[in-house]
Amino acid sequence: MARRSPLGPVPESAVLRSRLERAREAAAGTGLLIAPGSDLRYLLGQPGGSFERLTMLVIPAEGAPALVVPKLEAPGYDGLPLEELGVEVLTWVDGEDAYGLAADRLRGSDRVAVSDFTPALHVLAMRDALPKAEQTLAGPIVRELRMRKDAAEVEALRKAGAAIDRVHARVGEWLRPGRTEAEVGADIADAIVEEGHVVADFVIVASGPNGASPHHALSDRVIEAGDVVVVDIGGPVAEGYNSDSTRTYAVGTPRDADVAATYAVLRDAQQAAVDAVRPGVSAESIDAAARDVIAAAGFGDFFIHRTGHGIGLDVHEEPYIVGGNGLLLEPGMAFSVEPGIYQPGRWGARIEDIVVVTEDGVEPMNQRPHDLVVL
Ligand code: ZN
Ligand code: ZN
Ligand code: ZN
Repeated sequence: MARRSPLGPVPESAVLRSRLERAREAAAGTGLLIAPGSDLRYLLGQPGGSFERLTMLVIPAEGAPALVVPKLEAPGYDGLPLEELGVEVLTWVDGEDAYGLAADRLRGSDRVAVSDFTPALHVLAMRDALPKAEQTLAGPIVRELRMRKDAAEVEALRKAGAAIDRVHARVGEWLRPGRTEAEVGADIADAIVEEGHVVADFVIVASGPNGASPHHALSDRVIEAGDVVVVDIGGPVAEGYNSDSTRTYAVGTPRDADVAATYAVLRDAQQAAVDAVRPGVSAESIDAAARDVIAAAGFGDFFIHRTGHGIGLDVHEEPYIVGGNGLLLEPGMAFSVEPGIYQPGRWGARIEDIVVVTEDGVEPMNQRPHDLVVL
């Protein structure tokens, strides 16, 4: 039985215990300091919250891990199987030296790795508390675990993918001429929750010329007949794993005559990249598979970002599908394949699916058709 904390189901204790042990092994003698956030959720089943008071999971090279937590926030961790995991809870009250408490667990370590998104105030205070230890980033250590999803994680990504597919299937209910991007975005955000997400993490409705800006969010621009509209949406399901999917819509017949032919190139590029995914090929080769198709058609300068990013407890995580990343893909790696073509001042298009590397190929988490959706 999975335990349930207020924030969602917690993985089995055996899974968490093995993650803690593998993190310690991957750290190879370096002490780990894991602040609240996705790394903490991965290792303990609960992201916690980061504030000015120190909360930190301390994993020494030897000996029991400890969760240093302000006494007033400790009840927030009650739902976790900390005893079963062998994690000692060290509470502190205002006026006590929390950094010293964390540092005590790491005495004798000459290297201490801090999780990537630890607030600077805690990083610098830990440096003062352990002046002889060299600080490094824990990201490269923890990503070795988080990058390879187990069956339950893939199942959560599948659930997230199906939920966001259901939202895309309904976009025609809201995307109409005369409404603003913000109005359409508010309806989509509601649907993201209705269809099974905990929260709508991001909603991009980029209409007409705004579509040429890949991270445009929402604006008061009124959607017009003939607009091409990029809709890029996602959020986490209860397990904490995220969806992220983009489809491109046309409100009636596109105004620009070049849309159909250009979109066909984008479709081919996205499919070529998905088809190239299998174990043993490099992340950068997937980027190249999409980019080569777009460049060969003469649109190379209009594809202005990497082809994809890993996804899991974070929307953007390793592995990045980008030129220069020679990482070889392995079963369980999950990432987006999302080439785009952006025509400044006129329109843009992007197609984005999440895929997972399988033993012998690829499994897409999104199943919606890839055509330009003409409403
Ligand atoms: Zn993005
Ligand atoms: Zn996206
Ligand atoms: Zn994405």
